[in-house]
Amino acid sequence: VFAVLGFVFIGVALFISSNMSKKAMVPISQAFTRQQEFTADASHELRTPLSVLLSSIDAMEMTIEPQREAFLDRILANMRQEVKRMNHLVSDLLTLARSDSNAIELRAEQFDFRPLADKAIESVGALAASKQIILTLNAPETLKSIGDPHRLSQLLYILLDNAIKYTPNGGKVHLRLEKDGQGMRMNVEDTGIGIKKEDIPYIFERFYRADKSRTRQIGGHGLGLSIAKWIVETHSGSIKVDSELGKGSRFIIQIPQDSSSINLEE
Ligand code: ADP
Repeated sequence: VFAVLGFVFIGVALFISSNMSKKAMVPISQAFTRQQEFTADASHELRTPLSVLLSSIDAMEMTIEPQREAFLDRILANMRQEVKRMNHLVSDLLTLARSDSNAIELRAEQFDFRPLADKAIESVGALAASKQIILTLNAPETLKSIGDPHRLSQLLYILLDNAIKYTPNGGKVHLRLEKDGQGMRMNVEDTGIGIKKEDIPYIFERFYRADKSRTRQIGGHGLGLSIAKWIVETHSGSIKVDSELGKGSRFIIQIPQDSSSINLEE
């Protein structure tokens, strides 16, 4: 637990310090308020799993035989889940903090996106199967792309993971990849809970969740789409969403295939 606390502390400290060097294109006072909000949100998000861990330790200490063994199994499973959440959150925070200070080097290379898409589908397969969600892919045999393969896979993973998370049991998630002029187009479509019209403009903002209590249950902390947006923007692409509440959502990403347009910053 102390190792976890130490990790979180280092994560937050790194995040705050690198966020300080953020190149702000907005007035300084506004940037400062945003930074304060971001730090407050990050601390709040980290506090919730930490409280769960601390109360789990208290409960473990207080439990006596004969219930102890059965109880420990349950409580350890719960603790593992919270540590996983926190790990995910800290790694997303670090990605965003490093993207703010341009500390992430993107590689622009030519590669075939199809095997990466197959891998992404495979890695979310178990999650889809656990909810009896039908996951389908429609893509050409080869899809030559130019960009950073690791980041474009991460983008796909974020969108597929969301589509599955926000689709009730028995629904459908479909990924379509196609050439688009000189570029590539990704479509991630689901038959999930959908997004309210008034929430759509905000879902790419850091820590924004359309339905906080529900998404906390589902496991989201509101950073995935901000990372997705950063990846798309560094590739000079676009991301759009069409959604209908209760019916489903479709995320449409366009990535230009001209390597010279990749926005690689020093
Ligand atoms: P989270 O970790 O909460 O999923 P994201 O930044 O990835 O964070 O998404 C922000 C919010 O957008 C989510 O909390 C959810 O309310 C909404 N959202 C994202 N993708 C979908 C989707 N496919 N269907 C419904 N709502 C979605």
